[in-house]
Amino acid sequence: MRIVLLGAPGSGKGTQAKKLEADRNIPQVSTGDMLRAAVAAGTRFGLQAKSIMDAGNLVSDEIMLGIISERLAEPDASDGFILDGFPRTRQQALDLDELLDQIGTPLDAAVLMDVDFEILMKRLTGRRTCSLTGKLLNIYFSPQEELDACTEAGGELQQREDDNEEVIRNRLDVYREQTEPLVNFYRKRGNLKTVDADGTIDEVYARFLQAIS
Ligand code: AMP
Repeated sequence: MRIVLLGAPGSGKGTQAKKLEADRNIPQVSTGDMLRAAVAAGTRFGLQAKSIMDAGNLVSDEIMLGIISERLAEPDASDGFILDGFPRTRQQALDLDELLDQIGTPLDAAVLMDVDFEILMKRLTGRRTCSLTGKLLNIYFSPQEELDACTEAGGELQQREDDNEEVIRNRLDVYREQTEPLVNFYRKRGNLKTVDADGTIDEVYARFLQAIS
């Protein structure tokens, strides 16, 4: 199964992709995670990407094409993948088409995770990662016991550098301008599925599975 996940930052693409990856053994390909790994590795490219990401802007289409074409050529992606965070521009969508044409494997679906703006803001400003377990939490939505379990075990609730309010506003603007038009791009082709992504992780996952079944 080859799926593109569309949706604003905070719409839950990563969370849902990870669940599907675990269930169906299809790799989640998150360009955001790949870029963060390059930043953490401290490569020259990572340093350049960091300032773009910290401001909530997009890394160039050319660089993203290089990253994604290498990743999709890896053996674990040969039977399918869940693209999380790519494509983000019309050019990237066209590049993806060309790439998939070359390997003769068309997309099965583009799935839009649809959420209200207000909820997005809370999801993003409240998002934290437990430094001990790597678990994704949210100060507004996670049960207090789960938040306490992290801090009481000596962990910290860490916030992504691009999850502060000013950068979040920019990321949402960039999404509206550059990525949202892709909803129509895939709708016109007849392979767009829309999932109401407002609800608990399990509720949304059930809708997601139904959409791709
Ligand atoms: P994400 O974790 O998907 O929200 O991505 C974090 C950041 O990585 C974005 O705000 C961009 O700066 C960068 N990024 C991730 N995917 C892409 C992409 N497909 N094109 C350009 N920049 C990207």
